[in-house]
Parts: sequence; C-alpha cells; structure tokens
Amino acid sequence: MISESSQHVLFRRPRMLTFITTYRCGAVCDHCLMSCTPNNSDRLTLPQMRQFIDSFAEVCVGSGVVVFTSGECTLLGEDLLEAIAYANSLGLFTRIVTNAWWAKSERDAETLLNELKSCGLDEINISCDDFHAEYIPLENVRNLWNSAKTMGFQTLGIAVCRDNNSTISPAYLCKYLNEDIPLLHQLDDNTQTPRAPARFITDSGITRIGRARNLSLNQNARPQARLLASHCSDCGQDFVISPNCHLSPCCGINAEGTWLFDLGKINLTDDINELQLLLLNYIQYIGPGGLLKHLRTSGGLSSFGRSSYLSQCEICEDIALSKEAQTCLAKLAPKLAADLIVETKFETTFIGNGSDIHD
Ligand code: SF4
Ligand code: SF4
Repeated sequence: MISESSQHVLFRRPRMLTFITTYRCGAVCDHCLMSCTPNNSDRLTLPQMRQFIDSFAEVCVGSGVVVFTSGECTLLGEDLLEAIAYANSLGLFTRIVTNAWWAKSERDAETLLNELKSCGLDEINISCDDFHAEYIPLENVRNLWNSAKTMGFQTLGIAVCRDNNSTISPAYLCKYLNEDIPLLHQLDDNTQTPRAPARFITDSGITRIGRARNLSLNQNARPQARLLASHCSDCGQDFVISPNCHLSPCCGINAEGTWLFDLGKINLTDDINELQLLLLNYIQYIGPGGLLKHLRTSGGLSSFGRSSYLSQCEICEDIALSKEAQTCLAKLAPKLAADLIVETKFETTFIGNGSDIHD
C-alpha cells in the first residue's frame, strides 16, 4: 500500500494518473515540451499501462482520472482503446489529449470517436495553436470538434498556447468554429467540477522548456517576486509515467533523465530517493523559486538560471538539468530540510493539513 512507502509523503492526494504514452508524434512543434518526433519509437505497452492503472485504482483519492497524452496517444491504436476500456471498467475517468491529426474528415473523426466512446472515454482535449497548425490543418480540429460535441463526452476542450505574435487565439477559434466557447478560467468557480465543464478553451503562454527552451518569444514578462515565492501544488498531485515506465510527480516538464524529477523505473508503491523526496516536497510546499534563491545565495551560484522567468516550470527544468545544481542542493539539504519543517509546522498550526509530512 502507498502508506508503507515514502511516496505517501510526496503523492499526498493522487487524483490523476498521466501516461506520456509515447515520444512519437507526426508533428514536430517548436514548443513541444516532450520534444516528440515522428521517428521516436519509445512507447508504453498495454500490459504496462494496465499494471499502473491497477496500482492507481488502489491508491487514488475519490474518482481518479487516467490521462493519455503526448506524443500523440492515438498512435497506440488498439492498445489505447483497450487501456481506456480497462480504466473505465475499474470506475476511473479517462481523458485523451490529441492533436487531431486523425480527423481528416468528419467521417474519419466519427469513426475513431465512436470507438473511443464505446470504450468509455469521458474527456477529450485538443491541442491547437500556431505551432500545431504548421503540421495539423485547422480543418481537422473543426472535424473533431463538430463530431465530438454531440456524442455525449463529459468534456471537450481545446488548449491554446500562444505569445503576442500568434494568430490562433481563443477568439480566433470561436470565430472559426462558429461557437461561443467559454474560457476555462472565466467560469464561475461554483460551477466547476473536479474535471472541466462540458466545453471550454484554455489560453496559456508558452513555457521555455523542452524543445522551446531557447525559443525566441514575444511574451509579456511575469512579475518575478510572486512567481519566485509561490509553491507548486501540482507537484505530487499526479502520478506521471513516461514512455519508458519512469515515474515523476508532475507533467510540467519532461522528467525522464533529469536528476530531480525522474523517480526511476519504480512501482507506485516503491520508496523514493531521499534527496529527491526532500527537494520535491520543498517545491510542493515552498516552491522552485526557493531552491533557486538558495542556489544563488548560500549555494554560491550567483548567476544560476535565467535573469527572468515566464513560469515556475522553467525554474524546475533549469535545476533538474544541472548537475552543478544537484551537487549544490545536496550540500544544502540540511538547511532546506529545516526550511521545510518550519513551513510545514506553520501549515499544520494554521491550516491544519500538513501533518502527513511528519508521519
Ligand atoms: S502535437 Fe503535441 S506531442 Fe506532437 S510535437 Fe506537437 S506538441 Fe509535441
Ligand atoms: S513548477 Fe515544477 S513541479 Fe510544478 S508543474 Fe512545473 S515542473 Fe512540475
């Protein structure tokens, strides 16, 4: 059980199991955080996915969600359909994230959608923006949207990533699809379920991680003080499984191969390396900005990282890719642990939900 391993300290309230199903994709988007390509053959198999679904069904809180995401999950063919059906048979909700390459006509869209529906798929997220549109015609998105919206999926969403130079925006897509689709963050909090409402668009900036690490962007600067001072509640909320069966605590960056986020080829009940556990808890309670501050001050790496960040995930990737940061944070571990104890005691006293980290 999860309470017998150190994972319960990190994955406190797991509600989601996310499969990075494959690093293969027909597109090669410039902003792809997983750096997917058409020739990469890394992928999860059906038995692997079933095994993780079994473990997740045992430990998830409430009605868990299983997400099948990038590269392009539909390239798994029958294995995807069977994994969805299996999760559904255990009472779990299921979601796919797709670029709509397969919806070349409304008929093509309906064919796969009917199969997905008959397997019990609940939710579809379509990725669509200027970067995707270089490879996937917008007509595909329209075919998928128009076909899916009458088929009774619980939610149907479009995720847009853009900078100030982008053409495709939520307003552009509403006009193109001839439908007034709400932005997710504009919906009344009281109407939101743990999953998203029926139809929505999300609108986000571009994060300079993965293949976008050195992308030149026309994007407004973010207020640094707040970004550097915020904790990340996404860390530890999901079990994320890479195409090579490695576990990580979020899908903000491609964790595989990084010293900080790659928890290795382990089961959902195995113990986690102590330094990783400490630092990931630190990110969860205090934030990656706190690690950055320590690296630059007590760690002596005064010029570490970027002068300005657009997102917390950029800080995480900078740290997770740096061996110098690893050595430095290992030396600072006692100091970081002390910070964490103060923070979690504060939370226990004033909020009352931090007790599980001391177990
Ligand atoms: S469609 Fe998605 S997975 Fe494929 S390259 Fe683009 S961002 Fe990456
Ligand atoms: S800020 Fe860090 S921990 Fe949080 S989602 Fe991004 S990469 Fe993951």
